[in-house]
Amino acid sequence: MGLTIGVDIGGTKIAAGVVDEEGSILETVKVPTPPTPEGIVDAIVEAVRQVSAGHTIEAVGIGAAGYVDDKRATVLFAPNINWRHEALKDKVEQRVGLPVVVENDANAAAWGEYRFGAGQGHSDVICITLGTGLGGGIIIGNKLRRGRFGVAAEFGHIRVVPDGLLCGCGSQGCWEQYASGRALVRYAKQRANATPENAETLLALGDGSVEGIEGRHISAAARQGDPVAVDSFRELARWAGAGLADLASLFDPSAFIVGGGVADEGELVLDPIRKSFRRWLIGGEWRPHAQVLAAQLGGKAGLVGAADLARQG
Ligand SMILES: [Zn+2]
Repeated sequence: MGLTIGVDIGGTKIAAGVVDEEGSILETVKVPTPPTPEGIVDAIVEAVRQVSAGHTIEAVGIGAAGYVDDKRATVLFAPNINWRHEALKDKVEQRVGLPVVVENDANAAAWGEYRFGAGQGHSDVICITLGTGLGGGIIIGNKLRRGRFGVAAEFGHIRVVPDGLLCGCGSQGCWEQYASGRALVRYAKQRANATPENAETLLALGDGSVEGIEGRHISAAARQGDPVAVDSFRELARWAGAGLADLASLFDPSAFIVGGGVADEGELVLDPIRKSFRRWLIGGEWRPHAQVLAAQLGGKAGLVGAADLARQG
C-alpha cells in the first residue's frame, strides 16, 4: 500500500497529513477545530480533500481524544468534545470515499513511536504522553492492545491516591492529577507561593504574579536553573516514575516511551523519572530494567501513527 492520510483532532486545530510507508509526512494542512461534532466531520472531510490533492490515497486514519470502540469506528465518549456514540468512521467514509480507521489519539501516538520513533526494535512498549493530561498506549508482542471493548490504556485515570485530588473524569486521585502539564503548573504555583525567593526567574517570565504562571514559563525557568521550576519538574517526575514502576508490574515492557509537551524538556524530566522508576520497581536489583526513553516524533506521533494504522487496515 502506498500513501495514507493521518488526521489528528486537537483541541484547537485539526491536522491532516499525507504519510508514506516509512512514516514520513509529505504534506500537511491544518484547519481550526469546530465546536460541534457535525462541524468536526465537515472539517475532517475538508482537510482530507485539501491534503490529498495530487496524491493517490489508500486510506485515512483518524486519531481522536476519546473512547473509541473495538471496531475502531465509533467514538463512544470524549471528555473535551461533545462526542457520544459518534459514528465518525461511517460519516467520514461516506464523504471521502476511502476506508477510514478511527483510533484513540494516545494509541495512535504510541503506534507512531513504536513503528518510526523511539520504540523501533522493541516488541513490548508502553507509551505515556504527558500533555495537559496523561494518555497512554500499550504495544505487547508487536501489537497495539486495545482491550476487548477498545478502551484500554487509559492510564491517566488509574487512581494513585485514594480520595486524592478531584479529576475532570469525576473520580479522585487519578494519576494525571499528579503527573501532567496541569499538575506541573499546580506544583509551581504552590512552591512559588511558599518560597517566592526561589522563583524569581519563573515569576519574571510571566506577569510577576503566582497566578500568572504558565507551563511555558516553568519550562523556560527550569532551563535557567530556577529552583522552584526545577523542583516542580522533579515532583512531576517522581509521580511519573512511580507510575511506570506499577506499569512494569503489569506489562513488563522492554521500553517505556515518554512523550507529550512535558517530555520536551528531555533529561531535565527524564532523569528524575528514571530515578523514581528504579526506586519503586519491585525486585529491581534482580530483574532486567525497561529503558525509559524520550519520544522522538513529538507532536507528529499521533498523525503518523493513525496513518500507519489505516495502512495496516
Ligand atoms: Zn480521572
